[in-house]
Amino acid sequence: MRLKGKIAIVTGGGGGLGEGICLCLAREGAQVVVSDLDRQLADTVAVKVGEIGSRSLAIKTDVSREDEVKMLVDQTIQEMGDLDILVCCAGISGYSNREASSILIEDLPVEQWDETFAVNMRGVFLCNRTAAPVFRKKNQGRIINIASIAGRKGSEMLPAYSASKAGVISFTQSMALQMAPHHVNVNAVCPGIIYTPIWERGSQVLAKVHPLFAGSGVGPKEALDMVVQTSIPFKTYQTPEDIGKAVVFLASEEAREITGQALNVCGGMYFS
Ligand code: NAD
Repeated sequence: MRLKGKIAIVTGGGGGLGEGICLCLAREGAQVVVSDLDRQLADTVAVKVGEIGSRSLAIKTDVSREDEVKMLVDQTIQEMGDLDILVCCAGISGYSNREASSILIEDLPVEQWDETFAVNMRGVFLCNRTAAPVFRKKNQGRIINIASIAGRKGSEMLPAYSASKAGVISFTQSMALQMAPHHVNVNAVCPGIIYTPIWERGSQVLAKVHPLFAGSGVGPKEALDMVVQTSIPFKTYQTPEDIGKAVVFLASEEAREITGQALNVCGGMYFS
């Protein structure tokens, strides 16, 4: 019960990793506000948090909208009484709504670039920006931004996604410096590959357009399995709970001297 009585917001809390994070926080005694663009997903995870014995609240939020992010923080404080931990997990690959024709940069629609940055980068900015005064006033708080191993290094298949996640790592460092005088720890987590809905779609694109697989007849899941086998030294997918446990650690007293860091949870896929 390392987080007993703490109140946490998890954006994208209805998604694959978000759910793992919410459940891990709840198992450590945190009360969890499950925020997601998809209200139904948020409701489902909030029920699961309740079953663990923690108080929970589901809120529909589009993290790219300033008014909705403000409502999220205001409603959390009104209904839960406080805010101690902010986890920014909402994110998109950029492939969700469009057919990808190739990996060439000229085939990356400008709208797809903007959409990816609106959620992955602007969303993290807006949530950090809105929670910062709350934490500053209390002289305590924890912010954990979910970046990606893709933000450590460019990616031929996901240029917009990689750049947005590199932005999250850099922004996390800036926030850590700003919030340090107020005893607020700001860190990022860089997950490797977890088979969630983001990859159900991503693996279809991978199999269809990546030069290693295009036209080879290799199916989406098989292609992703091959990437895991060849690029992750442990040769295994990570799980939502692996990420949840890292978030719990960064939110706990044990991480009191850790700020401005990006923690890779990726089976050795990247060293930093
Ligand atoms: P997911 O698609 O399962 O979950 C993402 C969630 O974010 C969904 O529930 C979705 O409804 C929500 N969302 C999308 N747009 C939103 C918006 N505008 N406002 C609020 N919520 C929104 O994907 P996931 O794998 O759980 O990814 C979660 C985070 O982890 C993302 O930031 C992703 O980039 C990051 N990540 C995932 C992996 C992986 O392998 N799955 C690896 C590295 C990083």
